[in-house]
Amino acid sequence: MNHDVIVLGAGLAGLSAARDLAAGGADVLVLEARDRVGGRVEQTELQGGRLVQLGGEVVGRAHTAYTALAAELGLTLVPSYVAEPGALARATPEGISAGDPPHWFRPGDDACHRKATAAFTELARTVDPDDPWSHPDATALDRLSVADWLRSQGAGPAVVRLWEIGQLALADGSYERTSLLAALRKNAAVPGPGHYDYEAWEGLRVAEGSATVALRMAEALGARIRTGAPVEAVAVRRPRGCAVRIAGGETLTAAAVVSALPAGPLRSVAVSGVSEARLASLHRQRHALAAKFTAAYETPFWRERGLSGLSECEGVLGSTWPQSDGILSALVPPERYGVLLGMPGPLRAPELLAEIARLYGEEAHRPLATHLRLWGTDPWTQGYVTQWTPGDVMAVGPLHGTHEPPFYVCGSDQWVAGYMEGAVRTGRGAAQEVLSRG
Ligand SMILES: Cc1cc2nc3c(=O)[nH]c(=O)nc-3n(C[C@H](O)[C@H](O)[C@H](O)COP(=O)(O)OP(=O)(O)OC[C@H]3O[C@@H](n4cnc5c(N)ncnc54)[C@H](O)[C@@H]3O)c2cc1C
Repeated sequence: MNHDVIVLGAGLAGLSAARDLAAGGADVLVLEARDRVGGRVEQTELQGGRLVQLGGEVVGRAHTAYTALAAELGLTLVPSYVAEPGALARATPEGISAGDPPHWFRPGDDACHRKATAAFTELARTVDPDDPWSHPDATALDRLSVADWLRSQGAGPAVVRLWEIGQLALADGSYERTSLLAALRKNAAVPGPGHYDYEAWEGLRVAEGSATVALRMAEALGARIRTGAPVEAVAVRRPRGCAVRIAGGETLTAAAVVSALPAGPLRSVAVSGVSEARLASLHRQRHALAAKFTAAYETPFWRERGLSGLSECEGVLGSTWPQSDGILSALVPPERYGVLLGMPGPLRAPELLAEIARLYGEEAHRPLATHLRLWGTDPWTQGYVTQWTPGDVMAVGPLHGTHEPPFYVCGSDQWVAGYMEGAVRTGRGAAQEVLSRG
């Protein structure tokens, strides 16, 4: 046997798992397809030293696995954009408004929105985030979309539109195509006063840069990580252990394998010796496809308009927010990803900047630098975060996030709702499972 454990993928999940395995005395090897570590966390440095986050960026106070890891790595958590002064902007084709209520609301809509929010958070309290399948109405709740549920609660188009613009701002897929059970599970995992509490989910960021979390772990793991090594096949051969084949035909062996691959790329890996049920559950997961756009400016000029830089939009962009001084982040949600791909390459940045200029003024057209990262069509991600359409929670089933030793799984897709928290939590959890079995 070459190694005790082979970890597939050097994103936050794979690195967290490998770090704990190495600390527990295991001989661990991480195989990573790309020529860099970090996966969906990635950063680049601007002239002058400012870092730009091209992937995962913010966490919340409820994300305890991630915040604990950041502390262990000696990194500093500081308030994120949520603490920015100024109002949230909402942009739709017919208008722009700052703060609440949004410009399309009419008398009565606000009360209806509050009532629906209260009913949603109440219902979420009945769901166990670790075992949503045990809910007495699990199948019915999973079949229903959030939007259909809202309408069943008496919400009119204006209220559904507010929930929808917020959901597409997160780039997590339309509420018309999101399972109510999945949305309730997410809320139950991180309870808050609303249906997505920005402070609880996004109130903090690592001052040294989100991708620095991955880089610090990789630095300590050193030669235990092999980049440029796409995994093509995994054969689990009990009791002899596991064989992992990488592109080019080389085969490596280990007593156990921890898959830390996203759902899409994992489907392309030929896995044998694992039960059909386990594989079917993994293969049933899907992602919302999204892109991230960033524009770096000298100053946060949106503040001059009394705006925080946070917006929810119905353009090709679904949202903007300030990631750090003068740097604006933006997401393109799955419903608009095709429109982005249809834009000729050279037109993409100018057209996205025009949407930002509509919100914050002409200065938006003059960034120091822009970056567009097409995560949805990146071969090693094929997505953004896990998406649960109606029926998906029951179809993936209670095998979600479970192991079949010596084949272990982790990664943000194996937690309730993705996110960096999911990657770290499941990565460390998988390492603990492996170590506890010796
Ligand atoms: C644009 C964007 C913004 C986000 N914003 C936030 C945010 O603000 N807050 C938050 O909490 N989360 C955010 N997320 C989500 C978060 O970044 C991810 O959920 C998390 O980083 C995923 O970590 P992971 O280790 O599970 O997967 P990944 O980071 O995807 O790591 C998987 C690794 O496996 C590698 N790989 C794939 N296929 C193979 C193969 N065949 N062989 C070997 N290696 C392979 C990949 O290259 C990758 O390095 C965002 C994600 C994106 C894309």
